Amino acid sequence: MLNIPYPLPDELVCSVIARAQRRLGIHSPKFANGYLLRNRNFIVTPDLPSQLGLFSNQLEYQPITPTDLAYRHTLLPLYAPFIEEERRQKCLMWMERKCDGNVHFTVGCAASRLNKPEFLRYCPFCAKEQIDEHGEAYWLRIHQIPSIHVCIKHQSPLCSVNKRVQKIHRHAFQTLKIQKELSISKANCVHIEEQTRIERHVSELLILAPATSPSFNQWTNFYQSVLHEKGYGKGQYVCFDKVMEQVVSRWPINWLKKECLWPLNKQSSWLHSIIRKHRKSFSFLEHMVLLDAVYEGTWSMDSILKQVPSTEEISNSTHIYMSPLDDSVVHINKSKWLNLVKRYGTKLARSNGGGAIYTWLYRYHNKWLLKTNSHYQRPIQYENNRVDWRARDWHVVRAMYRILYDSEADLDSPRRSALWFIHQLEHSATVEKKLAKLPLTATFLERYAEDTTEYQIRRLTRTLSRYSPNKPPAWRLLRESGLSDERITAQAREFIECIL
Ligand SMILES: [Zn+2]
Repeated sequence: MLNIPYPLPDELVCSVIARAQRRLGIHSPKFANGYLLRNRNFIVTPDLPSQLGLFSNQLEYQPITPTDLAYRHTLLPLYAPFIEEERRQKCLMWMERKCDGNVHFTVGCAASRLNKPEFLRYCPFCAKEQIDEHGEAYWLRIHQIPSIHVCIKHQSPLCSVNKRVQKIHRHAFQTLKIQKELSISKANCVHIEEQTRIERHVSELLILAPATSPSFNQWTNFYQSVLHEKGYGKGQYVCFDKVMEQVVSRWPINWLKKECLWPLNKQSSWLHSIIRKHRKSFSFLEHMVLLDAVYEGTWSMDSILKQVPSTEEISNSTHIYMSPLDDSVVHINKSKWLNLVKRYGTKLARSNGGGAIYTWLYRYHNKWLLKTNSHYQRPIQYENNRVDWRARDWHVVRAMYRILYDSEADLDSPRRSALWFIHQLEHSATVEKKLAKLPLTATFLERYAEDTTEYQIRRLTRTLSRYSPNKPPAWRLLRESGLSDERITAQAREFIECIL
């Protein structure tokens, strides 16, 4: 169909369709899609669009296959070399047909740590040049790359459209209209040098011809071989610390933080994972950061991707431990752990700054760790801070005084033992169990709880009061007080002798 313009160099597919819609002057996106592509439900996805088959069918005058469209006019080349071949094939199939978001999940960008731009972006200077050359401006792939925020050619910060990429009408394609004056100042952005380096390698990726992707094994072998060749190996191991030092010397920590590539030193960091046996794919940015550090800037994506599939497995590399195994590091970690276990015990040492050291020692010096730990095991005393025991103590002791005053005149009450006082309370079970946390209550009970003698004297007093002002004989006093010669205490006996 002649209404669809041919894609310009590095132009996004959605940009081509937007230009076609604008030329037709049709305002209804669905109607325009039905007219242009024979499908009203063509959906906008700027980075990894699907239904490319429909689009390529309309370019009869200068045929281009859906695969070529995917490689030259979408962001697929940014991901394709780093995912497994089976996945790459699936992505190509889904991009040709209809995919319902499968491509984003399959290339890993849905779960990626990279900061994906929320908006479509452009450089006003590039747009001006496009208008001069082609009569209209269009969206470039290179300006939609995560981690690149400036136009390297013009050293100008990229401008964003107002609408979020996801929020544009599902079927509408946005034409590029320059929103700012071109007199804007040149870029005053930080990390220009880093972005320039990334842009150089991304530009290479974007023009690569479709090719079979290396397998995870091939990536593993490649990095093993290169790291040893470049002097980062030690025996069959790779010295992680050296690699990390080199990465940090090439890429400032602030930039790594900004691009969500920091920290590096944790066992779970991407840098640890990428130089171990590959079990998942890594982003273009992670590969580029490591490759640039190892080759110190002298490398090209094209030659690396040719080299990876042909790298042979290095001997004894089936068990690859990437670890700082220098004696000094071992010594430092062991003494750090020893200090922690002496202070906190083995369990609490891990949650008091020793977690990473524990994991490291567990992995590399297991016997030493277990032996050391056996000497420093300590039971953990958990502190329950949910109850304010001080306030509870005041509350209980006040209640106990009330019970004491209410029962003081009652000579018939049972023995007012500590347990009797406690059982008069509302939460008797808690107080009984937690007496150690209630010092005032404990003091009260010690002072006011009746012992056996006091209780016997109270019962004798009660009987005497019934006979008052007379005095009953001793045997009657004892019997009516529920006492006997055998059970009466020495002090209670003294009390009887005094009053009779
Ligand atoms: Zn520019």
